[in-house]
Amino acid sequence: MRSVKFVIKTHTVFEGGGFKVRRPVSMGSLMSPFLLLDEMGPADYGPGEAIGAPWHPHRGFETVTYMLAGQMQHEDSAGNKGDLLPGDVQWMTAGRGIIHSEEPHPDFKRKGGLMHGFQIWINLPAKHKMMPPRYQEIPASESPMIEKNGVWARVIAGECLGIRSKIDTMVPIEYIHVRMNNNSVLEKEIESSLNTMIYVFGGQITIQDKIIKDGELALLSEGPKLKIKTKDSSEFLILAGPELNEPIARHGPFVMNTREEIQQAFTDFRNGTFAN
Ligand code: FE
Repeated sequence: MRSVKFVIKTHTVFEGGGFKVRRPVSMGSLMSPFLLLDEMGPADYGPGEAIGAPWHPHRGFETVTYMLAGQMQHEDSAGNKGDLLPGDVQWMTAGRGIIHSEEPHPDFKRKGGLMHGFQIWINLPAKHKMMPPRYQEIPASESPMIEKNGVWARVIAGECLGIRSKIDTMVPIEYIHVRMNNNSVLEKEIESSLNTMIYVFGGQITIQDKIIKDGELALLSEGPKLKIKTKDSSEFLILAGPELNEPIARHGPFVMNTREEIQQAFTDFRNGTFAN
């Protein structure tokens, strides 16, 4: 049975054009393959106030955006354009390079409202870092969800309560959004060797007598099984993935294995050969 190794509290930072995110303090190889976990908002914007992240590049990893409230619009150098509504998931594999903008939808920006969601960054192993970019978009209506004994789950990647996501991930990832009623229990199997973490963003949960509260990220020990209990209703993400055991060279929006590869990314970006 997995237990809590340690707990990290989130802090608030400002990203992109200045939008507020909650971010656990230390993200690094410790939580391989996850490079970043951002809770965007919840932020209640007035008319004209909503902000996003204007055009910027990525290389060497994946960004996964999951909306809970509000409406985003993305656009990229490959000519893709789309909207992200509550419950929608965009799984973007930047691979060798993408330049994109992630902004509030113009209608949402005009009217204002509640914006809430998550963006995680997942590292790619060296052999996939320069793969052609690709998108997988899963609208809320096609997203696998289940409700059983006071536990609701959306399976973005992996498996939970007998349902499985169809998403094709480059490394085996579990990404589950869970809501639990008070006094309920969730038992889930996770491959023993996968690094696993849980980010609580509402209420609190208990794992082996250890309480994890709103805004806290728990890193779990290895083991084939996870058991979560609640006293009050709670909401959280389960994230699991393999240890990549490769050097990480990271600079801003580029995550490679060596400094030379980072310099190459900057050179390609300057020369306009980045996302071709
Ligand atoms: Fe981005």
